[in-house]
Amino acid sequence: MWNETSENETDMATTMARTEFGTFFLPGPTEVRREILEEMLRPMIGHRVPEMEELIGRIQPNLKYLFGTERPVYISASSATGLMEAAVRNCARGRVLSLVNGAFSDRFHRITQATGLSADALVVPWGEIHEPDMVADALKKADYDAVAVVHSETSTGALNPIREIAAAVHGAGDAAVLVDGVSSVGGAALHADDWQLDFALTGAQKALALPPGLAFGVAQAPMLERAGQKADRGTYFDFHEFEKNIEKNQTPNTPAVSLLYAAAAQLQAIREETKEARWARHMTMAERTWTWVAAMRERGVNLEVLAPEGHRSPTVTTIRLPAGWTGPRLAAAAQAKGFAVATGYGKLKDETFRIGHMGDHTLDRLETLLETLEDVFA
Ligand SMILES: *Cc1c(COP(=O)(O)O)cnc(C)c1O
Repeated sequence: MWNETSENETDMATTMARTEFGTFFLPGPTEVRREILEEMLRPMIGHRVPEMEELIGRIQPNLKYLFGTERPVYISASSATGLMEAAVRNCARGRVLSLVNGAFSDRFHRITQATGLSADALVVPWGEIHEPDMVADALKKADYDAVAVVHSETSTGALNPIREIAAAVHGAGDAAVLVDGVSSVGGAALHADDWQLDFALTGAQKALALPPGLAFGVAQAPMLERAGQKADRGTYFDFHEFEKNIEKNQTPNTPAVSLLYAAAAQLQAIREETKEARWARHMTMAERTWTWVAAMRERGVNLEVLAPEGHRSPTVTTIRLPAGWTGPRLAAAAQAKGFAVATGYGKLKDETFRIGHMGDHTLDRLETLLETLEDVFA
């Protein structure tokens, strides 16, 4: 047993030696800068003390800025899936239409089914997006109370046109638009208020480059009325509890204190970079990745970006592999050269691999990764 411990300690030492930033390109969790990790060494504070209200008070305006909202932003000590469930439990009173084009949108659909609501899925092939007209047509077929949609489908690298989809939904009736922005918020343009997103959520560990364990969400005021009409909306993710507490810069239950320290520092850094500059940096890295794929093809390595041009996410690219390769084999080969990339996700695990060019990554380090992958394929 003691031997085991020392082996683990060696592993830990190896991981901690990974000091140079820019080797860990998973599309979540993403690489966290050392300064941000070190914020978590601060001492504990109680959750009903002025210091905590001050901490949340510093985080709150930067979260509002990030989401583009005047509404308070809820802070949940959960992974993002928690707020996906919260979206359905609080905002949907009747039949839900889920727009499914990959693994995470499929999860949104399954969550809806699991809450006991009637749920339909509007499924398009993985990698594709939902055209707003297609959504408007689907809404004519039944009386829908909510539409669940993923902005950036992290399994496929497709970016759904959320603004246009939200406009189509609002034009068709009064269904609420519930948006999973987990790999978009902070990495791709999203304006919760201007785009009339009734609920939008994200997780800490994707484009925000924070450690996992926090989720953030913003609900438009009518969602609170909806929540009030639901007797079975539960406790942990109750919007009324979030709302009542965040007004006082508090959280309903014990907050993830250490993660909040990290969030305060990182959200301030994001504010200083500006969200527009951050979106542009992500787009530059994405475009570089797509050009690289095209160049590799010209050199006879048959790679292909899964999502169609014009509908690709700036934060993650899913790449189809040539014959003879699998996602796990590619990820292992990259790891042997010191870089983490992801296998495909779900049913795309073997045929694809994924590069998460999001968070605090830079074009410079992405170039180094791409050079390394060239060696891997050589
Ligand atoms: C990662 C991810 C999720 C799930 O987030 P967890 O924090 O693991 O619960 C949901 N949706 C999308 C689009 C994601 O990328």
